[in-house]
Amino acid sequence: MIKEFIREPRIAYFSMEIALRNEIPTYSGGLGVLAGDTVRSAADLELPLVAVTLVSRCGYFRQEIDETGRQVERPDAWEPAHHAMPMDAKVAVTMEGRTVWISAWLYVLEGHMNGRQPVLLLDTDLPENDPRDREITHYLYGGDERYRLKQEIVLGIGGNRMLQALGFEIERYHLNEGHSAFLALELLLRHAYSPEDVRPGESPYDIPRVREQCIFTTHTPVEAGHDRFSYELWQQVEDGYVDLPTLKRLAGDTDLNMTRLALNLSEHVNGVAKRHAEVSRRMFPGYRVKAITNGVHPHFWTCESFARLYDTHLTGWCHEPELLRRVDCCIAEEAIWAAHQEAKEKMVALVQERCGVTLDLHLPVLGFARRMTAYKRPDLLFSDLERLKQIAARHPFQIVLAGKAHPRDEGGKRLIEILHGHIRALAGTVTVAYVPNYDLEVALALVSGVDVWLNTPLRPLEASGTSGMKAAFNGVPSLSVMDGWWLEGCVEGVTGWAVGEGSEADNDRDARSLYDKLEQVVLPLYHARERSAWIAVMKGAISLNASYFNSHRMMRRYATEAYIR
Ligand SMILES: *Cc1c(COP(=O)(O)O)cnc(C)c1O
Repeated sequence: MIKEFIREPRIAYFSMEIALRNEIPTYSGGLGVLAGDTVRSAADLELPLVAVTLVSRCGYFRQEIDETGRQVERPDAWEPAHHAMPMDAKVAVTMEGRTVWISAWLYVLEGHMNGRQPVLLLDTDLPENDPRDREITHYLYGGDERYRLKQEIVLGIGGNRMLQALGFEIERYHLNEGHSAFLALELLLRHAYSPEDVRPGESPYDIPRVREQCIFTTHTPVEAGHDRFSYELWQQVEDGYVDLPTLKRLAGDTDLNMTRLALNLSEHVNGVAKRHAEVSRRMFPGYRVKAITNGVHPHFWTCESFARLYDTHLTGWCHEPELLRRVDCCIAEEAIWAAHQEAKEKMVALVQERCGVTLDLHLPVLGFARRMTAYKRPDLLFSDLERLKQIAARHPFQIVLAGKAHPRDEGGKRLIEILHGHIRALAGTVTVAYVPNYDLEVALALVSGVDVWLNTPLRPLEASGTSGMKAAFNGVPSLSVMDGWWLEGCVEGVTGWAVGEGSEADNDRDARSLYDKLEQVVLPLYHARERSAWIAVMKGAISLNASYFNSHRMMRRYATEAYIR
């Protein structure tokens, strides 16, 4: 099985999480979904890639919401043997003085055209390991700092050794976020000069050679969001792996900063949207940070009814999403509307089934689903319930919400409770549903079934955001704060609408702007007697945004600008 994949040199794509399919919960949110779309596009474009991640046997978590509106976290275990093949190779790393053995499962991601991509899922749950070490690859983002450090050692160092053990010839290494930066350290140790060739005071490592091989995509626009560990912890876990002065020179003096390590060992560095690259350049002066704006996978994120339409009128769109530019002249308004209503019916049925809330197919639905955390401001829409009720009295609408909060993000979990309070307060005036357990299936149902996709993050904290791009593939316009990808995707009144003015983010001002836009522009347009103007915006989202913000374009750029240099 592995033979088919080791015949040609490949790009190794490392990510802590990858959303392979809905039944495999090895992802938590945007980063993992992007990684999945990356591998799906690589398959369709037949780019020689091999992805490396952790098996995360116990998943992230399955979310339930109790009667009081609180998030309940249930384990979300999966059985690798049902989906992947065990490989015979084993590699070892040393942690806390113990040998930790690592095995791998091979998952073959089948593109929906001909491509196949190997994905290696690293696993420490082996009988020869100490019970403490068997758990390292169980919980995605679980445990404490020490657990996290061990996971990153397994991913970076273990993953790199596993590729070697399986016979992969790796041309370049792509680090999706800093979690896997130890892989570059492992390369460095492999490329050490022999002692007699090193003059006193010179580095014993071939840093330029490692940099040449590494590509780093950063995803975090705030300093505090970057992974870091104390050197004390590092020494407790991994003493003797590399000399401390070398590590400090590469990863920072005060603590081991995974982003610094990745920046110093990667020749190509990029942010995930133009604004995010600017913010990153300011955050890390002295590094060249380019921009490769994210995209979503065309086929994976297009609902059935729209895929049928595109297949009929824009043959080849799955390989060349640029063809969607022609939607304006090639697909009739009525066909667009019918495809949308079909997706909306499915979403209405899913909402009924998952939370017992009945939505009206003929009233507009605002959708908001994403990780529940403070900077995403899921409560901005509910800042002034009286104003919201007044708007609904004149221009009726409904709301669908979804999203998980990280189990240790108390603020995020509190937000879920607060939202449920608002749902109760609006009962009888505005129908609001909160769909539990936001996953790939719920995401597709919502991004295709709602009428407007809402996004209200605190600027400039949204590095890119991708759910609005998924909406665009399904003819759903965005109403969003100007941040992340929307700075590139918003053409006012053509692809959707902007929220908020001025460069400074301000909750009150942003909320007022959101209400004004809804009341004066978005809802009246939806309710207008003539539907043409609304459908024109739906078409604008498809032709201008789906044609560009897709992972095929993104991967073609990675291939030509980063992989082949
Ligand atoms: C797309 C997606 C996300 C990321 O959405 P953002 O707009 O980037 O916040 C998170 N979770 C799931 C399940 C998704 O499908």
